[in-house]
Amino acid sequence: MKDETFKNAKYELNPSGTILINNQEVAHTKQCCHCQRHFVSIKGSGKIRGFCMKCGKITCGKLACDTCMPFEKKLENYEKGKTKTL
Ligand SMILES: [Zn+2]
Ligand SMILES: [Zn+2]
Repeated sequence: MKDETFKNAKYELNPSGTILINNQEVAHTKQCCHCQRHFVSIKGSGKIRGFCMKCGKITCGKLACDTCMPFEKKLENYEKGKTKTL
């Protein structure tokens, strides 16, 4: 059975990473500049991805990532005890 999960995965010009299945490149991933999560853009999925004007990079579109909070800053807050979660 053919895996069609990434059939409509968008080809990224500057991918942050790739997803390999059986050593075959099946999708490109982009990384959210705020939470560092990798995600795959699927054509026609209607999923809205965000874009941070401050970082000049794309975000995963999560509500929490709409606000500019670079990962380094988050880490800093975490170390200082301001944030409990990363
Ligand atoms: Zn994110
Ligand atoms: Zn940002």
